Amino acid sequence: MIREMKRDELLKSVREAEYLTQEERQLLQQKRLHELVDYAREHSDYFKTYYQDLPEDYTLNDLPMTSKKQLMPHFEDWVTDKRVSREALEVYFSDLNNIGMPLLEEFSVLTTSGTTGQPLWMVRDSFHGKVHGSMMAVRLMERLGIDPWLDSSRYKMASIIGTGGFHSAVSSFERMKNSSPCPEHFLLCSILDPIPEIVANLNAFEPALITGYPSVMAVLAKEKLEGRLTIEPKAIACSAEQLTEYAYKMMKDAFNCTIANSFCSTEGGEVAFNCTCGNMHLNDDWIIIEPVDSNNQPVTDQTMSAGVLVTNLADYLQPIIRYHVEDSIIIEDGQCPCGSKLPIVRLLGRNGENLSFDIDGGSRTIAPVMLDFLPTKTDGILQYQFVQKSPKLLEMRIVYANGSNKEEVDSQISHYVKQLFKDNQMDAVVFEIVDQPPVQSKGGKIKTVVIDF
Ligand SMILES: [Zn+2]
Repeated sequence: MIREMKRDELLKSVREAEYLTQEERQLLQQKRLHELVDYAREHSDYFKTYYQDLPEDYTLNDLPMTSKKQLMPHFEDWVTDKRVSREALEVYFSDLNNIGMPLLEEFSVLTTSGTTGQPLWMVRDSFHGKVHGSMMAVRLMERLGIDPWLDSSRYKMASIIGTGGFHSAVSSFERMKNSSPCPEHFLLCSILDPIPEIVANLNAFEPALITGYPSVMAVLAKEKLEGRLTIEPKAIACSAEQLTEYAYKMMKDAFNCTIANSFCSTEGGEVAFNCTCGNMHLNDDWIIIEPVDSNNQPVTDQTMSAGVLVTNLADYLQPIIRYHVEDSIIIEDGQCPCGSKLPIVRLLGRNGENLSFDIDGGSRTIAPVMLDFLPTKTDGILQYQFVQKSPKLLEMRIVYANGSNKEEVDSQISHYVKQLFKDNQMDAVVFEIVDQPPVQSKGGKIKTVVIDF
């Protein structure tokens, strides 16, 4: 049985699957999907009913979509273990000392930051931990040669993340610290701390490995290039946000060390990792990602999606099967020079609602991804945030890359934004670049497109 695979079998499978052909990986997906669906039908009251009319020889496309809105109200019927009750979770969340501690002594617990409505509760069992840990060990740490620096008995690790909640980054940090023989080798900094304070703490601590969001790492790279930050880390591991080419280059220039980037999601786990060529590879032996448009119809390769249907083939406790999330993604054609056969993806993350502007007595909308695409075409932008300030005004906040010419950057990006509005008959929208840094959301990330009025 798949969910009884041991750690060494999982490591072997993860190593081999990376070099299987697409057809071979699809067969593997199919086998894993069937075992997961059968298990869900047997052990989840929700899926028992939801899947009652499935044909016997069903394929992925026969499975109806799911979503947070649909499943969270039925949380107790959704999970496959009756011990994981709403009450047990509420008690667990009521005590902040539980961050990073297991629920019922065996499950790990995460929540989303809950920007839209009710937060998602995600409870994972040890099998999920083993699968995703194996992928991380082989396809990130081993691939990029970071594993030696993870030995916390010899090296120190610092994380600069959003603290104080049950977000996945904090929970993982606390779990690693709690299970280490040298918990004093771990330093947690909050992204809400003033930068000089973070810099002073890092200088005193001298970590070998740093983890955090790319945008924050880029700010630290600037501190390093300007001489205030003096640490010499061996590796930097980023997650959760889009890593722009400029942020990557700046980190390379500043620290001259290995840079790892993982895209993980609460629902899907470790979705994609970067390789030595800098491309993100989708872990599609354990996660099925189906890009969809705003009507939930499949989009063809090379097109940016409005959402994705996620199937997490390792999650038997709280089945995530064709579960809709608002990530925007492009699955690229072609093979990566690094030799990995796993598909290359471009991830633009989650940007929520569309922006609606008043035009000629009516209104017109644009999708956040349309704006997000523009800075990737512009030289010299390290970090950015588009903020809609009124039904007629869009502002942009920019952190410029070192050595870039502010006027040239502003003129280039203004040109693209105005062209986008023009192309959409929205010439009346006023666009301004303001002298203000991007603002972080409560969940600790910098959302690249926000509405603020
Ligand atoms: Zn590659």
